[in-house]
Amino acid sequence: MFQFQITAKNNRARAGIFTTPHGDLVTPVFAPVGTQATVKTLTPEHLKEINATLVLSNTYHLYLRPGDELVRDMGGLHKFMQWHKPMLTDSGGFQVFSLAQTRKIDDDGVTFKSHIDGSTHRFTPEKSIAIQENLGADIIMAFDECADPNDHKYSKIAMQRTHRWAERSLKAQTRRDQALFGIVQGGVNPALRAESAQFIASLNTPGIAIGGLSVGETKKEMHAMLDVVTPLLPENKPRYLMGVGTPEDLINGVLRGVDIFDCVLPTRLARHHSAFAPEGRLNLMNASFARDEQPIDETCDCYSCKTFTRAYIRHLIVAKELLAGTLISIHNLRALIRLMEQIRIYIADGTFESRAPELLRQWSNNAKRIKHGGHDAHKVHDEKPL
Ligand SMILES: [Zn+2]
Repeated sequence: MFQFQITAKNNRARAGIFTTPHGDLVTPVFAPVGTQATVKTLTPEHLKEINATLVLSNTYHLYLRPGDELVRDMGGLHKFMQWHKPMLTDSGGFQVFSLAQTRKIDDDGVTFKSHIDGSTHRFTPEKSIAIQENLGADIIMAFDECADPNDHKYSKIAMQRTHRWAERSLKAQTRRDQALFGIVQGGVNPALRAESAQFIASLNTPGIAIGGLSVGETKKEMHAMLDVVTPLLPENKPRYLMGVGTPEDLINGVLRGVDIFDCVLPTRLARHHSAFAPEGRLNLMNASFARDEQPIDETCDCYSCKTFTRAYIRHLIVAKELLAGTLISIHNLRALIRLMEQIRIYIADGTFESRAPELLRQWSNNAKRIKHGGHDAHKVHDEKPL
C-alpha cells in the first residue's frame, strides 16, 4: 500500500513520491507541527495556501487532551482538525522521556505524570500504537526511547530497548492503512547508530525515522550520525529525521539522503516576533521597522509578504494583536516550504549538490540569531502554549 518512488537523485539527495491514503507526498518535505491538532495560529486554509502537504501532531498531547478515544469517536484526526492531506503522529515517547522528573522507565514501558494535572499514566509500545490507531494519521511511529546523546553507556541500553519496542509496536499494529515507521537510535556513537540502522532496516517497515538527534549534540555530531545511518538504509523507503528543521539542517539533511523533516521552529519564532528574511532573522518588534514600507521579504510569495508592510506587522506586535503571530507564521512556514520546493527543483535538474554551499551561505544569516531552536530538545519537538 505504501509505495515510495524515487523520481530524481543527486548523489545522496533524493526527490520522491510517497503514496499515502490521503494523497501523494512529494519529498523532500518539511512538515509544520500541529502539537494540539492545530498548527498554532493557522487554519487548514492557511496551510494549503502555503503549500504545506504534511502536518505532524503529538500523540502525548492528544492522548492527554482531548483523549485519543474522543478523537476516534469524532471521526479521527483528519476530520477532527479538518486537514485532509497526509498526517504524521509521533509515538509519544519523546515527550514522555522529556519529563525527566516524573517518569519511570522499565523494559515493558514507561510510567509518567501528566504535565496538565499530575495524574499518573503508562505508555507501552502496544499502548502507543493503540493511541495512534485511534488518532488515525497516515504515518505513525514505533515507540522508542530517546536517551541523552552524551550518556554513551545509556545510549546502548536505550537503543536495545528501542529495538525490542519496535518489534512489539509492529506486532501491536492492527490497521493496515497507516505506515508504521521504525526509529533508529544510538546516540552519537557511530557503531551503535550503524547497528540500529541495520536492525531497523531489517524490520522492513514502509519508512524509517532517525530519532535522538537535535537533542543537545553538536551539528558536526548530527551530520556524522547521518553519514553513518543513511547509507545503511534501503533506498526505496522514505527517511524521516525527527524534530530537525533549521534552514541549514534541512539543506544538510537532504544532502545526506533525508526525505522528511518537521520542526516547531518557524511557528515558535513567529510567536517571538522573529521572521526569516534575506538579510537575516528580523525581530519585527524592533523600533527600526515602525515606518518600514517593505514586506518581510520582497522575494517571498506568501500572503503576508504580498499584502502587508513590516510597519503594519510591527504595529500588530506592539498592540499585542494575535494577527501578528498568524502573519509571521504564514511567512516563516512558507519560507521553509519554499526552500524545500527549490531543493526539489535542484535535485531534479541535478544541481542541488553544487548549489548547496550557496544555499547554506544565504541561510547562514538566519541561523546566527536563532535562539529558540537547536539545543533545547523539549522545546524543539513540540509546541508549548502561546
Ligand atoms: Zn512571506
